[in-house]
Amino acid sequence: MSELLPNHVAGGWVHGTGPGVALIDPVLGDTLVRVDAGGIDLASAFAFAREVGGTALRALTCRERGELLGAIARVLQSHREAYDAIACANSGTVKSDSAVDIDGAIYTVSTYARMAARLGDTRHLIDGEAVRLGKDESFQSQHVQVPTRGVALFINAFNFPAWGLWEKAAPALLSGVPVIVKPATATAWLTQRMVKDVIDAGILPAGALSVICGSSAGLLDALQPFDLVSFTGSADTAAIIRQHPAIARRSVRVNIEADSVNSAILMPGDAPGSPTFDAFVKEVAREMTVKSGQKCTAIRRAFVPVQLHDAAAEAIAARLAKTVVGNPRNSTVRMGALVNRAQYDAVRAGIEQLAREGNVIHDGAQAGLVDADPTVACCVGPTLLGVRDPDAASLVHDIEVFGPVATLMPYRDTAHAAHLARRGEGSLVVSLYGPDEDALARMALDLADSHGRVHVVSPSVAALHTGHGNVMPQSMHGGPGRAGGGEELGGLRALGFYHRRAVVQGAPGVITSMGI
Ligand code: NAP
Repeated sequence: MSELLPNHVAGGWVHGTGPGVALIDPVLGDTLVRVDAGGIDLASAFAFAREVGGTALRALTCRERGELLGAIARVLQSHREAYDAIACANSGTVKSDSAVDIDGAIYTVSTYARMAARLGDTRHLIDGEAVRLGKDESFQSQHVQVPTRGVALFINAFNFPAWGLWEKAAPALLSGVPVIVKPATATAWLTQRMVKDVIDAGILPAGALSVICGSSAGLLDALQPFDLVSFTGSADTAAIIRQHPAIARRSVRVNIEADSVNSAILMPGDAPGSPTFDAFVKEVAREMTVKSGQKCTAIRRAFVPVQLHDAAAEAIAARLAKTVVGNPRNSTVRMGALVNRAQYDAVRAGIEQLAREGNVIHDGAQAGLVDADPTVACCVGPTLLGVRDPDAASLVHDIEVFGPVATLMPYRDTAHAAHLARRGEGSLVVSLYGPDEDALARMALDLADSHGRVHVVSPSVAALHTGHGNVMPQSMHGGPGRAGGGEELGGLRALGFYHRRAVVQGAPGVITSMGI
């Protein structure tokens, strides 16, 4: 029988009491480990995190918490190879795709460790300037932000078991708030292993970091008013969470990162072979294939001026044709598997649904798999679809096929392109490609209401931009509408979620003393 991974709660390691759910290698079909959360005393686990972990973290200054983050980053770096092996086995990813998750996690923790130095030896944040409330300065108002005395519960998606934990835990721990992470079951192993390494290294105070692998049953019931929930996953699960009494009645603060039908727009005035045309083509193909398209930020809809449609279709298809798909352990393979059979079936069904509204420009299924049995491996070749009349289509603007799939569509003018992008009803990211920086700036502002991030690629940055789908800790991650309405990262802005804002009204001496 495979190993049953223990959970870490209330400062100790505990095994679930049930038989466990098996985590599977999506390429070979082997059982790897099992996870189970049965029998855990969740009320005690949450209370321990709040009372013991939270108290210890709040006693530290921001500078000291930042030093903990620095130590965490070093521990994670020292186990980098073990994480790569787990990601390959459990997520079916090639090395470069595993790196997006693992190195993205380590980079994010390191970045917050560095940012902490800017905060110095404080335990709370001063919010804005003091303002006088009377005729003179003798009675004033000053807003402050103090760490919440609750616990931060993270319910995460399967596609980023490493980054998904640390992009949330870094700002939470820096804020002085203890963390309980419940990773998606399918890929919980990497999250559990990272937590284990950090706990074993003795970096954090007891109760500061807990991990519960397996069923989510009872987690939301354990929440109390000053706790927080940060959820990443599907819109359907998000809707269940929003309706839970902890959120609906006890005002537990919630952040939701959900589905998103992101866009890339090649601006008018470009031509085949130009730096930005090439950057657009490269980015669409890259976003379709990195992590087999299992990124919430991946390009799902690519819009091009109508006269460039055929040239763009040909160029993207030519790139996709070079993508070798199969067993990530084979060095010729560039794209591995989807996470499991359920996702494989969902992606195949999604392609069929989208193809009803359009045509298949590039069918990745034709090339076959390298070193992998197609009856076992959950691999899907990159598939580019085309829709000639995006106004008449509806599924393409609505369905997020969470795999290596995108749809190319023509538009008439920039107003039409912006209208089509907005039919995603709120997305995490839109990227723009073109030579005219004034036109790009106008379009960026026009789309900023419905997109959390606008990624702009003009010729001077075509070779050095950070990528449409890469979430940088310095920049906000999240989007309005169907993307969940959440906000994460954005540098020190992320700390706001873990702090409570209050206003203190009093004499200037009181106000001044608070700033020390
Ligand atoms: P999911 O099925 O919604 O699961 C997400 C998490 O919720 C998992 O940990 C899951 O646990 C848990 N969960 C399931 N039912 C629950 C319930 N009733 N109460 C509380 N928790 C529950 O999503 P997924 O399939 O893992 O992830 C894919 C989706 O995530 C995609 O749609 C993608 O767009 C989205 N995503 C968004 C972002 C973003 O930043 N916006 C990032 C990554 C992914 P189990 O695994 O144990 O079921």
